Amino acid sequence: MQTLVQMIYPPRCLSCGGLVETDFGICSACWPKTPFISGLSCDLCGTPLPGQSDRAEICDECLKTERPWTKGRAALEYKDQGRRLVLGLKHGDRQDIAKPAAKWMARVTRDLVQEDMIIVPIPLHLHRHLARRYNQSALLAEALAEELDLDWCPDALQRPKPTPSLDGKSREERFETVTGRITVSPDREELLKNRPVLIVDDVMTSGATLAAAAEACLANGSGQVFVSILARVAKDP
Ligand SMILES: [Zn+2]
Ligand SMILES: [Zn+2]
Repeated sequence: MQTLVQMIYPPRCLSCGGLVETDFGICSACWPKTPFISGLSCDLCGTPLPGQSDRAEICDECLKTERPWTKGRAALEYKDQGRRLVLGLKHGDRQDIAKPAAKWMARVTRDLVQEDMIIVPIPLHLHRHLARRYNQSALLAEALAEELDLDWCPDALQRPKPTPSLDGKSREERFETVTGRITVSPDREELLKNRPVLIVDDVMTSGATLAAAAEACLANGSGQVFVSILARVAKDP
């Protein structure tokens, strides 16, 4: 069946539209131009770090900022081709990016998997969800759950009130704006109790949104919280 589908719809490169040999989504010409994170990276936010190390390292930003989660991973840097892919998934109706993106996320996130772990996406407020028609983080969460063979729940977390856009805000303003805005859905409180949680989002900038989500899970009595991000915004040097 898979072969038949591939004969009729041969896989296309997500970047250039050319044919690709695998279902990894990016052709061999575009692969080097896509900022995949490999090698040493921050154990909390996934940002790439220089050099090599045989122990877990933390970036300067995570040393300065309290991260309520235990470990985090990111597949891409949010720049160049990485940024274009994320924007395509988020605003460009390119839902086809979610499955290959989840494969890239699975590659860096697999070592965080624990028994009984559940994947939950960062929620959109209902109005934004209706306007955009889909939640890009939920698409990633679903596909990542399949890759990692874990349970997932699309509506475990909620934003009861609309959150003002974080675009253009300073990091302090971002934390002020989003703290306390994400909660565990009342119907899902039992589902998260005592279970390790893997929070999925498309982009991490300051980490304020992920922190609000992680705090909501922990306040509800979840087990340890981990995060997996498609793209990490690199800090200004
Ligand atoms: Zn290509
Ligand atoms: Zn970090």
